[in-house]
Amino acid sequence: ALTKQQIVAWLQRCGEVFQQQRDFLTGLDTEIGDGDHGLNMHRGFSKVVEKLPSFADKDIGFILKNTGMTLLSSVGGASGPLFGSFFIRAAQSTASLESLELPELYRMIKDGVDGVTARGKAEPGDKTMCDVWRPVVAALERAQGEGDTLAAALDHALAEARRGVEETVGMQARKGRASYLGERSIGHQDPGATSVMLMVEALAATVH
Ligand code: ADP
Ligand code: MG
Ligand code: MG
Repeated sequence: ALTKQQIVAWLQRCGEVFQQQRDFLTGLDTEIGDGDHGLNMHRGFSKVVEKLPSFADKDIGFILKNTGMTLLSSVGGASGPLFGSFFIRAAQSTASLESLELPELYRMIKDGVDGVTARGKAEPGDKTMCDVWRPVVAALERAQGEGDTLAAALDHALAEARRGVEETVGMQARKGRASYLGERSIGHQDPGATSVMLMVEALAATVH
């Protein structure tokens, strides 16, 4: 099972990862956007880590919802409302839960991604974070069907996330700032997609 303590550890790890990867992500966003993505994610997750002690003893839904609201109010740009929506929607099915088995984790992430899609309206291949979120959801669904352990399911999800990030390189952006570049957005890795992969990586590391 994935415990509440592990969810908290995951969010703390995200805080560390976005500190370490801040300049790398900002560099990716400099190539096809306005060069603030790393700063945005670092600011958002620093705030989450700062606030965690005030809600870390609540249920998983409460923790996720407050994480989402914190990201929504501190990240800004296109990605703030999208990551905010992810956590706020992920909170819905996890209210009052203290731990998650794979079916609950799948449901949590699927709901979150549905929230991102509802808000951002990105189609597959639009070169956005959804091009990583979708294969992650699909991998978790498959793993659940095959009766995988939670750790194995997250390994599959991470492999798919890494593949999804690579695939954004060849895509032309059709949503967000990168879409202003048209064909010139081809050949660059999408920053938001990279952040999603880093979050999945942090979750997998928390379970191992
Ligand atoms: P901004 O573009 O406002 O500066 P960020 O740089 O923080 O915001 O985030 C850019 C990332 O947001 C992109 O790399 C992309 O993954 C994601 N993104 C932008 N628009 C959308 C959308 N409509 N749906 C999903 N993801 C999106
Ligand atoms: Mg940007
Ligand atoms: Mg910006």
